[in-house]
Amino acid sequence: MPVVDYAALTDVGVEREHNEDYIAVNEQLGLFLVADGMGGHASGEVASRIAAQTIEQRMLAGAPMVQAIMQAHEAIIEGVRSGEGSRGMGTTVVALQLEGDAYQLAWVGDSRAYLWDGKLKQISKDHSLVQMLLDSGHINEAEARDHPRKNIIYQNLGAEEQDAPQVSLLQGQLHKGEKILLCSDGLSDELDDRQISEVLASEQDNDRLAEALVAAANRQGGSDNISVIVVSAPEDAGEQPEQIEADNESGRDTLVPE
Ligand code: CA
Repeated sequence: MPVVDYAALTDVGVEREHNEDYIAVNEQLGLFLVADGMGGHASGEVASRIAAQTIEQRMLAGAPMVQAIMQAHEAIIEGVRSGEGSRGMGTTVVALQLEGDAYQLAWVGDSRAYLWDGKLKQISKDHSLVQMLLDSGHINEAEARDHPRKNIIYQNLGAEEQDAPQVSLLQGQLHKGEKILLCSDGLSDELDDRQISEVLASEQDNDRLAEALVAAANRQGGSDNISVIVVSAPEDAGEQPEQIEADNESGRDTLVPE
């Protein structure tokens, strides 16, 4: 097995009393995951934990990542029924599976993945109202950044009104020297691309990078829980870029902006 170097860190932030984020790494699966829970009575942290554990368990049992994410949605709804959490709880998820230098990235909601190759590129696309407004040309990047409703996501795992979440899927290949950053919005809301890039350019060591990213978000206010996972390409990764984009969405939008 090629050596994959990574660091994973979650932090409650400055203003919150609970950490509703949940991060998980399974080296056997090459799985790296950030879930950002929501819901009253501390049930957000129940939802993100159920999601992370279900995805890991189902993948260990042989399920493909997207299927495991669908099953996590069911498991959260079941968690409400059984009283483990409370009604309305849900979670985002962004999950990366690395096999050699090939990766699969899947996500629901607005937890993000970025590719770092000396430049920062967001490779996930938020399932958010603001992203829709951006895509349809109603607002520009600067307006998106400061939009008052930027935390509204139109789907999450556990939402009972959804039969099944739309899981976005991206496949690609990591090249020598590249890294993938997974994060919750506690990082990406506090730091813009330039600020994230400055941190990533400042340091090679993944542990120190994760700490520096969390510290930078806390310096900007730390208004939400902050989770980061930084994963380096395997040492024997190839040099040639190739990327295939796929999406399991059937074009069915669950929310249409005005
Ligand atoms: Ca959050």
